[in-house]
Amino acid sequence: IRAPEGERQHTRATCPYCGTGCGVIIETRHGQIVDVQGDPDHPANFGRLCTKGSTLHLTAAPAVTQAARLLQPALRTQRDQAPQATTWSTALDHVAQELARIVRTHGPDAIGFYGSGQLLTEDYYVLNKLAKGLVGTNNLDTNSRLCMSSAVAGYKATLGVDAPPACYDDFQHARTLFIVGANTAYAHPILFRRIEGARKANPDQKLIVADPRKTETAEMADLYLPLRPGTDVALFHGLLHIALAEGLIDMAYIEAHTEGFEALRATVADHPPARVADVCGVPEADLLQAARWMGAHTPTLSLYCQGLNQSSRGTDKNATLINFHLATGQIGKPGAGPFSLTGQPNAMGGREVGGMANLLSAHRDLANPAHREEVAALWGVADVPAQPGKTAVEMFEAAARGEIKALWIACTNPAQSLPDQATVRKALETAELVVVQEAFATTATVPYADVLLPATTWGEKDGTVTNSERRISRVRAAQAPSGLARHDWQIFRDVARRLEALMPERRATWRTGTTTLFPYETAEQVWNEHRDSTRGRDLDITGLSYALLEQQGPQQWPMPEGHAQGTARLYTDGRFPTPSGRARFANVPYEPVQDPCTAEFPISLNTGRLRDQWHGMSRTGTLGRLFGHVSEPCIDLHATDLQQRGLAEGDLVEVRSRRGSVIVPVHTSEAQRPGQAFMAMHWGQEVLGGTGPEGQARTGVNALTSPFFCPKSKQPELKHAAVQISPVQLP
Ligand code: SF4
Repeated sequence: IRAPEGERQHTRATCPYCGTGCGVIIETRHGQIVDVQGDPDHPANFGRLCTKGSTLHLTAAPAVTQAARLLQPALRTQRDQAPQATTWSTALDHVAQELARIVRTHGPDAIGFYGSGQLLTEDYYVLNKLAKGLVGTNNLDTNSRLCMSSAVAGYKATLGVDAPPACYDDFQHARTLFIVGANTAYAHPILFRRIEGARKANPDQKLIVADPRKTETAEMADLYLPLRPGTDVALFHGLLHIALAEGLIDMAYIEAHTEGFEALRATVADHPPARVADVCGVPEADLLQAARWMGAHTPTLSLYCQGLNQSSRGTDKNATLINFHLATGQIGKPGAGPFSLTGQPNAMGGREVGGMANLLSAHRDLANPAHREEVAALWGVADVPAQPGKTAVEMFEAAARGEIKALWIACTNPAQSLPDQATVRKALETAELVVVQEAFATTATVPYADVLLPATTWGEKDGTVTNSERRISRVRAAQAPSGLARHDWQIFRDVARRLEALMPERRATWRTGTTTLFPYETAEQVWNEHRDSTRGRDLDITGLSYALLEQQGPQQWPMPEGHAQGTARLYTDGRFPTPSGRARFANVPYEPVQDPCTAEFPISLNTGRLRDQWHGMSRTGTLGRLFGHVSEPCIDLHATDLQQRGLAEGDLVEVRSRRGSVIVPVHTSEAQRPGQAFMAMHWGQEVLGGTGPEGQARTGVNALTSPFFCPKSKQPELKHAAVQISPVQLP
């Protein structure tokens, strides 16, 4: 919506950072972004913005663009050369020809596509069709694997589909709020403001926070549960044990709407409060209080994020928390439900179009032959392969082994953000072709590129994103693309059109003629094809259009044809999208973390976000004012751990894991428990010192993290790595 106002224009769009999905109004003068304000009409934020959102316009300043953006395609044909500036036509021809050559020589599974939860839904849709439809490989994963895949697997295992059942309005209806594995104050600041508002309006509301660190979110809690890293499944079984013992479960709901409860009873019986207190390190009395509030001071809403997801037991953590809600009937009504908070701005939209290695369009399942046929028919391709694709960690491990020959990386920075950087760096050096499609020239992945494709970014892009509460919002361009940058969906489309000519056998036989399978000229045309693919599915949005989003504002899916507005809450009738129509209890054991702490590696290292930075800092790192909160990387430790090592505040320490090491200053923090440490995820090799694995560059905190991942969701463990800490002797 552009409203000319003299020389100024105002454009409604969405913040590109966290999964809160705040609406913004961008002001431009003479075609240049000059200001940003919160959109008072957007139902996620009602005009508020956090420090990151309120400084977005500064990241679009001409000086930042000149210094930090990738503005021209570039190409190298020999690894010992730097990429040279080239034309779009030459770069796109090269990518298409190289991909076709590798497919002919090694097969389609020699190609790996690695995208981002910061791509728009339209970008994701075309990428998915290009990889799974045209190239014929399911090796398409994104950094959402690091973000939400355990939440997806947890929902599917218990409720049948990947759909958060609650909404932001539920904050004000809940009488008990349980925040676990989420530092909402830092990671979703505007949601935290809404929670503060709900607590003020409802003094009766109880807030329980479970987290190994006493975060800023935990500081606000009525009850804080400082559980040991990785013990969440034991905690949730223990809470259900108490609820059963004290008659707080809802047998009528269990009998009418669920299955598998009797099988779970024995597992839960094995988690009495004394045992759980011992495993989790939480006082027994606090466990009793938490279960009583959650089971009796209802409705109860649970909010959770990466503390549950980024774990080698991520799916089980999600599913056993959902168990509690099903057993107590705390789902499908105002103020109740399990509610995963999305880390990235469009991790949800990516899941909707099936933009991950195990998914297909509109929540269809890759393992289902009928679903594969439906999608192949929709796309007009010969088939969608049955072979499951490689997920994020697996993809880079396969490239490091030489099995994947080409990596196409879009809008993400695996050379900083993936765990076990030694393997990631080897993959980027071993692959025959590395294509990096990026808005910023400053990421750690850019130096590995054989082909650099400059992409547009916030303020220049047009399309949609979906936030944590299933709400689809428009993203709108307020200024022209910088330099020669093009939209991500356009870049995928243009390579796809070239590949169609090089790989005609991939078209379905009934697709006669020369009409391209990628006919899109606008983002809206892409979105319309995605929308039509959702008909009859759980996320049906056939009642929605760009025009309706323009008129009525952001809407929550599902919104089938004929519906006047979106859907705030799911499962209000107690029916679930499983074959039986019943939700399923997850009967899974508690298992301790992998990469165990030992005498040699005695400290459990946790990683996470800071309030004012975003991911690898390619955007937030351009603004000095965002370093006012925390100005440099450090490791947070409890005072007793400093004393034991003869350390003082600010001393340099070497942090070493079984995989690598970094050197950082130490910071005393009362948020940490003895034996635990925390490092922010944002800094990479450019800032941190260290030794790194033999022959490898220094790679920030992910030099330390482990390659372990959840066997069900394939989401890597980023919340625990066993490390040792020792003083660094300066010469
Ligand atoms: Fe942006 Fe998240 Fe801050 Fe909202 S809370 S302004 S979406 S970073």
